[in-house]
Amino acid sequence: MSTPMVRAEGVRKHFGRLDVLKGIDLTVERGQVCCLLGPSGSGKSTFLRCINHLEKVDGGRLTVDGELVGYRQQGNRLHELREREVAARRRDIGMVFQRFNLFPHLTALENVTEAPVKVGGVSKADAREHAHALLERVGLGDRAHHYPAELSGGQQQRVAIARALAMKPKLMLFDEPTSALDPELVGDVLDVMRQLAADGMTMVVVTHEIGFAREVGDTAVFMDEGVVVEAGDPRQVLADPREERTRAFLSKVL
Ligand code: ADP
Ligand code: MG
Repeated sequence: MSTPMVRAEGVRKHFGRLDVLKGIDLTVERGQVCCLLGPSGSGKSTFLRCINHLEKVDGGRLTVDGELVGYRQQGNRLHELREREVAARRRDIGMVFQRFNLFPHLTALENVTEAPVKVGGVSKADAREHAHALLERVGLGDRAHHYPAELSGGQQQRVAIARALAMKPKLMLFDEPTSALDPELVGDVLDVMRQLAADGMTMVVVTHEIGFAREVGDTAVFMDEGVVVEAGDPRQVLADPREERTRAFLSKVL
């Protein structure tokens, strides 16, 4: 078996006295889509933020592509990563948030070329060519020169996905990417994510879209109060959960 893209073993995180992650165990294999579900406050965003170096893990072991998050191994010694090393690792991970966070003063195309040119060392011409292809891929080939304010929420979110893909990440994290959208705009965003999954991208998706989780997820993970309550095949976890807490949650979101 190849190295998993993400492996969490007993991952813990607290904020002051608040234990937010109380020992998360979870594995995401390469090319798989892991859908993370659970009530508000259960620690889903915190877990994604740990994967992406936005929060520091307090305990347990978290690896991305076989490398311990936050540390570099040298022989059998661990060294905390320097800022520059963290930045380099983060470049391999794309993240899409609930709010699109596009630069308002840049066009769709410029939003997508910004990081590759500024931090990726890519030439402007190459970045533009790649960005056009990415905008095409998310169905916005004809919106390249529009500003965020001229785009719908769903279109902005698709630009955000294209922007994350511009750095050619090996892992994509989505934190409730459709929660802030009007219902009629959700489908287009999910379609782009579905296509990305079909193209083999490894994805961790926090979502309340049960249909998406069932169709696209290779695994569904139900979290509550900082622990994984239940994980497995989405068709089982979402249709016939073993745990009462999963059942109670699903009856509320369905
Ligand atoms: P979810 O995404 O599942 O809704 P979060 O990971 O956002 O849950 O939050 C889990 C808990 O951690 C919540 O009680 C939240 O208030 C708390 N929390 C998250 N981030 C911080 C922070 N930076 N400082 C203090 N508490 C935090
Ligand atoms: Mg959250």
